[in-house]
Amino acid sequence: MQLTFRDAVLKGLAEDGGLLMPEKIPVLEKRLLQHFPAMTFQEIAMAMLTPYLEDDFSVSEIRDIVVEAFDFQCSLVQLTERVWSLELFHGPTLAFKDFGVRFMARVLQRFAAGAQKEITVLTATSGDTGSAVARGFYGVAGVRVVILFPLGKVSIMQEKQMTTLGGNICAVGVQGSFDDCQRMVKEAFSDKNITLCLNLTSANSINIARWLPQACYYAYAWSRLYHAGKVVFSVPSGNFGNISAGVLAKKMGVPVGSFIAATNANDVVPVYIRSGVYSPRPSVSTISSAMDVGNPSNFQRLLALYGYSWEKLTSEITGYSFSDEETRKAISKLYLKYGYLADPHGAVGWLGLQNYQHNHPDCAGVFLTTAHAAKFPETVEPLIGKKISIPENLTSLMNKKNHYITCNAKHEELKQILLNG
Ligand SMILES: *Cc1c(COP(=O)(O)O)cnc(C)c1O
Repeated sequence: MQLTFRDAVLKGLAEDGGLLMPEKIPVLEKRLLQHFPAMTFQEIAMAMLTPYLEDDFSVSEIRDIVVEAFDFQCSLVQLTERVWSLELFHGPTLAFKDFGVRFMARVLQRFAAGAQKEITVLTATSGDTGSAVARGFYGVAGVRVVILFPLGKVSIMQEKQMTTLGGNICAVGVQGSFDDCQRMVKEAFSDKNITLCLNLTSANSINIARWLPQACYYAYAWSRLYHAGKVVFSVPSGNFGNISAGVLAKKMGVPVGSFIAATNANDVVPVYIRSGVYSPRPSVSTISSAMDVGNPSNFQRLLALYGYSWEKLTSEITGYSFSDEETRKAISKLYLKYGYLADPHGAVGWLGLQNYQHNHPDCAGVFLTTAHAAKFPETVEPLIGKKISIPENLTSLMNKKNHYITCNAKHEELKQILLNG
């Protein structure tokens, strides 16, 4: 079935529960791409996103969305002659999810303005997504956000980020696990009494409005490095939304080389790349916890981009997985040898690039750094033998008061909150 961008964003999923994809991937004109090196990040983002948005928004609306969403830096830091870090953690919650969430919030705000009913965004989180969603949607008119988190199972900082804002952000501490939270979200979406009453959508990483904007920073990085030949991108991966947005950028005509899927011990995709067999399994806990995913929700999107062909996929994507021990060593080495402060996720990305360049020594490469090291002080500080200074916007949070509702892991209780809250 064909949907407009607006319907795709508001529905989140296809009728059959599958992921939504652009029907046809727009290819940018070579002449436009040639201008990228002289364009700002925001200008490049406009060029990349306009083909998807132009049926729903005017040029000036698209410009406003992009300028408001991407009001922070995306920077490329050179470590060696052939290695760069693409730092994606300079947004308000210090993780790359700010790109997708902030863009989606600005898009929904405009859809809400034209809607009869307030839009309710319901999302489950194990910590990071909830923080980004709370910050990204805070104060967005016409949108109410309900975030379910497992009580006592998120970090103090993450809890502060979700529960101190108030306003249109309603945090719900669930007496249960993250899996309970996810199940409750699914149950809410399949309850007709709720979906008929509320304009309900989700802000998880499979929503197309969170996925598309991630293609922009691949184009940006290429535009700054086009002189280095066809660069490879090493992407620390969990749900595989980020790397599949890189593949989307390539399909849109951005001349990047290939991709490296770098994972922690949760290695179902590297195993698939090696063997052709995809066998999801329960996740295991690691120090790069945002990538502890046993059945990546965006894997189908990645397959679709390669026409469901293992041969095609493996001709452009290499996969590696790394242990916590290797990740710790990488954090130390990056700091000692290059004076570079990496978080556990970025370190996995760097390891992927190192492995690849071992076999392709002439190849220039970029590893994506997806979170600020200050978010993982208990792991990083002992490795570098130093305290990490925490950016001020996070320290000031620690003195603010938490506000949240608690509820049992029961559908009926959440239903009450959704319908009466
Ligand atoms: C979410 C997240 C990832 C994984 O990204 P995917 O798009 O799910 O592959 C990696 N690093 C950090 C810090 C994250 O928050």
